[in-house]
Amino acid sequence: MKASATQQEQVLRLAELDQQISATESKIEDIRDGKLIAELRQVLIHSSERLLQARTELDNIETELRRSENDIELVEKRISQDNDRLKSSSSHKDAEGIQHELVSLKSRLSNLEDVELEILERKENASTELQALSATRSEAAATVQSAEQESASELIKLQSGLALLVAEHAKLLAGLDEDLAALYVRKASRGIAAAKLIGRDCNACRIALTSAAYEEVIATPRDEIATCTNCQAVLIR
Ligand SMILES: [Zn+2]
Repeated sequence: MKASATQQEQVLRLAELDQQISATESKIEDIRDGKLIAELRQVLIHSSERLLQARTELDNIETELRRSENDIELVEKRISQDNDRLKSSSSHKDAEGIQHELVSLKSRLSNLEDVELEILERKENASTELQALSATRSEAAATVQSAEQESASELIKLQSGLALLVAEHAKLLAGLDEDLAALYVRKASRGIAAAKLIGRDCNACRIALTSAAYEEVIATPRDEIATCTNCQAVLIR
């Protein structure tokens, strides 16, 4: 089939456009598919769950602390009551009994204070962990948000790029001779429709032509279409 050098260059450009269009379409599909964002959302959900656990843990420790403070308060009250009773007691026997009780109350108070210290320590650790988890969760939320924004703007960029590619493709195809356009469309429906001949290699299938095929391509007049014997792409010399 006859085709001027310009028309052959246009055919090559059309083939490039076809590849760019399909690459752009697949990028758009990837964004719409949203796998990356779904993964980031999973991370966010996981860190929200850990944060909730840490909050519950801290709540429980605080309940425990209040209970321990109550216990201490009760014992302190008893000690103060006993001290008052001791001052006003005139019976030696009663005083002995009260003193005996005071000893055991003071020992109980000391134990309760040890327990309280241990709870306070756990509370501090739980608060620190809660703060760290809260920061991690905020970070994960910000990552999801910025990924969503980036995706949205990338999608707009790709779509407008695609529109330009499609418009150039339509214009070039309309500028081809009718037979050549039909040939191009037929070949494009099967694979890469046209490619450069680089040395002896077809740049569509990346396979070297046999000597005989190469001789034939070289012998083809410049204003005639040459074809790759392997993949049937139009070879632009
Ligand atoms: Zn080929």
